[in-house]
Amino acid sequence: MTRSGTRAERMRMPFARDVVRELAITHGACIRPVQLRRTDLHTGQVEQVLVPCGHTLASVCPACAERKKALRAAQCREGWHLDREPVGTPDPPDDEQLMWVELRSDAQKRRDAARAAGQDTAEDDQLNSDLDEQITRSGVRGKVLPNQAARRHRSTRRRQDTPDLPRRKVTARTIGKTYTAPSGKTFRPSMFITLTCPSYGRVGPDGTPIDPGSYDYRQAARDALHFAALFDRFIQNLRRFLGYDVQYFAAVEPQRRLAPHIHIAIRGTLSRTELRQVLAATYHQVWWPPTDQVKHDDAHLPVWHDASGRYLDPATGEFLPTWDEALDAIGCEDDPLHVARFGQRFDAQGVLAGSRDASKCIGYLVKYLTKHIADCHGTQTGAQNAHAERLADTLRYEPCSPTCANWLRYGVTPKNPHQGLRPGRCHGKAHRREHLGYAGRRVLVSRKWSGKTLTDHRADRQAWLLAMLGISAADASRYTWEPVTPGDPDHMPPAQRLLHVVADRQRWHAALTQARARANGKQGTDLPATGRAA
Ligand SMILES: [Zn+2]
Ligand SMILES: [Zn+2]
Repeated sequence: MTRSGTRAERMRMPFARDVVRELAITHGACIRPVQLRRTDLHTGQVEQVLVPCGHTLASVCPACAERKKALRAAQCREGWHLDREPVGTPDPPDDEQLMWVELRSDAQKRRDAARAAGQDTAEDDQLNSDLDEQITRSGVRGKVLPNQAARRHRSTRRRQDTPDLPRRKVTARTIGKTYTAPSGKTFRPSMFITLTCPSYGRVGPDGTPIDPGSYDYRQAARDALHFAALFDRFIQNLRRFLGYDVQYFAAVEPQRRLAPHIHIAIRGTLSRTELRQVLAATYHQVWWPPTDQVKHDDAHLPVWHDASGRYLDPATGEFLPTWDEALDAIGCEDDPLHVARFGQRFDAQGVLAGSRDASKCIGYLVKYLTKHIADCHGTQTGAQNAHAERLADTLRYEPCSPTCANWLRYGVTPKNPHQGLRPGRCHGKAHRREHLGYAGRRVLVSRKWSGKTLTDHRADRQAWLLAMLGISAADASRYTWEPVTPGDPDHMPPAQRLLHVVADRQRWHAALTQARARANGKQGTDLPATGRAA
């Protein structure tokens, strides 16, 4: 009896590793730190440095996800109520940037010559894409060459069922209008808007359909797949309607009924009536081949033909049309595969800089960023599970993009085909259950929001912390950095890294507390309470 009691007691004792992990989380440290080897070029000294993994999901790394969320909130706050245009003239390029761009030019010339001579350019293309990455890393915005996607020109005739929108010339201004109160005080209000998808059938308070049989899962799936494109359209229309370069910070998340909706902070305002007008005129047409007929079910899948790099009909031996051929076959009289629109229900409120409302809205915007789309509302009941299951089933055979394997099911070769494609097994994110059909970015920020990238915002916080601790930022060009891989003699296993991280954290915390106390003694508390080491 004592033995089993002891065993039960032993079973209740926590594992040492779990304790370290918990400790790391309590200290706000990354639990999956990446090991880098840093060499000091002046002294030749080699040091091991552990950097945070930077994951955005709390289920993977709570501390990194929380830090990313705080950064996003800072980015949102900084751009929302700007009263000066955020983007100045870019700095002139430095020597390193010039060097990479020159190398890139040479490589492009070589590649084009090889191509003209009919030679294989795969290696040159790889080199070019590596160089592009170096150019980006050296702090240059954009690409030296535009992406090669050849745009097809589809008829842009307007839909007859959609009202026209008055159009103004879009000026370069990104700041909204100012209003003057009778007292003479001026206000520059901004907006917080929430847009939803249309109804697919009535749902109960738990988000599940009252009548699952008539709920339009296909429409729901397609709207989710094309949600990002529809939002783009909305912004284009908004800019043309208001006549200035409207800026936004937006977050996409699911409603309880599992359809995406979007919270948008917008610089400047418009009335509810104007917003209703823009929404009524906003739609996105998907000009893809028809999918109403299953031509090849799982028992009769098209066969890969290696010599031509195409798929064959197994019954007739004929080639399936290529993606471009299938697009060309869509005639002027045909309808688009799908038309996406926002629902009629929306939410809009004016928000003043620095108000409590503004903080509350920023809270909404970043609330769910550390969770997977599907985890934002946990499915608990049988009905909720069945609803999620039906949506996932519908998404299984919906084509997610021109390269989707599902096109084979409808008798069309996907774009950029290769061997081994199977309908229902596309690797596109949109089909995965945790994405609910939306594979786009969770946070959508326009280019001139705060005039800073997330990296800039991160640098701001690091600079604050270093100044606080009285440490000078290390001279970047003095060090080289290499990743440490498991075969290396100095590689630290994860458990060992975690111990180091916890020790470092305790040191940082102690130093920071002291520094805060010093600063408070001098000048009160005007320091952010959230400063953390990167
Ligand atoms: Zn982490
Ligand atoms: Zn797909």
